[in-house]
Amino acid sequence: MGRCIENPRTSCALGGALGVASGIERVIPIFHAGPGCGLQVSIGQKTGYIGGIGCPSTNMFEKEVVFGGTQRLRETIEGSLEVMDGDLYVVLTGCTSGIIGDDVESIVNEFKRKGVPILNVETSGFKGDTYYGYEATLEAIVNDVVKEAPKEEKTVNLFGIVPHQDAFWQGNFEEIIRILNKLGLSVNTFFTEHQGIETVKKSSAAALNIILSPWLLKKFSAIYKEKLGVDTFRYSGLPIGPTATSNFIRELSQKLNLDRDFVEKVIEEEEDYVYSHFEKNIGVVSNYRFIIVGDANTVIGITKFLVNDYSQVPLLAVITDDIPKVYHEKIENEVKNLEYGRKPKVIFEIDKWKIGELVREYEDEATLLMGSSFEKEIGDELDIFTTLVSSPITGSFIINKGYAGYRGCLTFLEDLYNNN
Ligand code: SF4
Repeated sequence: MGRCIENPRTSCALGGALGVASGIERVIPIFHAGPGCGLQVSIGQKTGYIGGIGCPSTNMFEKEVVFGGTQRLRETIEGSLEVMDGDLYVVLTGCTSGIIGDDVESIVNEFKRKGVPILNVETSGFKGDTYYGYEATLEAIVNDVVKEAPKEEKTVNLFGIVPHQDAFWQGNFEEIIRILNKLGLSVNTFFTEHQGIETVKKSSAAALNIILSPWLLKKFSAIYKEKLGVDTFRYSGLPIGPTATSNFIRELSQKLNLDRDFVEKVIEEEEDYVYSHFEKNIGVVSNYRFIIVGDANTVIGITKFLVNDYSQVPLLAVITDDIPKVYHEKIENEVKNLEYGRKPKVIFEIDKWKIGELVREYEDEATLLMGSSFEKEIGDELDIFTTLVSSPITGSFIINKGYAGYRGCLTFLEDLYNNN
């Protein structure tokens, strides 16, 4: 049964789907949805080749609701093909179409039969949140366009960093790619470096999928395994800082049978880079007792960094993704898997007011609150030093800043001390 929550932190399924479709170069998303949906789900999303409010939409009104919207969809696809040059057209359905039950697939099949590269994904907002749309759209695209290919042992696919939902997704991708490139690996992400449908098609040649998430893309990784013969290496959380990133590299290099001496040399160079900056700035280290609020990847990554590399004390970790209960224990264990004695209390909560009440319980003890712009309010009220690490972050223009990896932890520390 559904419940009301104050200030959700994700968009609807259509928003997650738009993030995927518009993130792949020369993919054209086509909305079959009500007139407000495009604007609503574009908030906070950057436009790619065609994205955001530039997407074509059927803008379903009363007429389509009463008499069906399939003819309007047919016309919208025809118009899009006429004026928008793309490599793949992806019809994304909103709530209106989902409720009236338009047969979208039969319309899309009409165009497929004419040789148009097109597919549809059922992404009515009521089906789920951003993560649902992200998973459903990736599954649909991979199922439709990827065919088995001979393996390239130095190529990997990198998934799990969710466009736009991770406030620092572009920077996080860039840093992980930089590290993987340094290990001699080519990286398919679908969302960076102008990667388009050709990259998606050849992703079956990868030696391994890397999924940076404790819970996302289970069905998706099964498609790669069963249909395309690609295994998955799952790393729970974003690797942030030298300890986690070196662990990540060592585990990955074992899966890929990379030369151990070479891998250790890369780790030594990267750790030296970070530790030399730590040494020069060691005078500014504080003793924080902290609360962190955010998505699972961010909470795991920052908690481990602050505890294992920076000796700060964790009090409370609030995971704000609407994660199926079956994953809760695994994620809680991951947050508490720390090198020092004190473990944080781990709570799964989405509602802004309830999170505020949880923070209030630590009013006397906490000296640092990390979360989204929603947590700024309770942080200011309780006079706890607050910094923004998770979505939504309003009032900041973020291009490619990221917290992942070796270099990202330095950016995180800069932001922490600059109170960004
Ligand atoms: S929840 Fe439904 S109506 Fe609202 S933006 Fe998403 S698809 Fe459109």
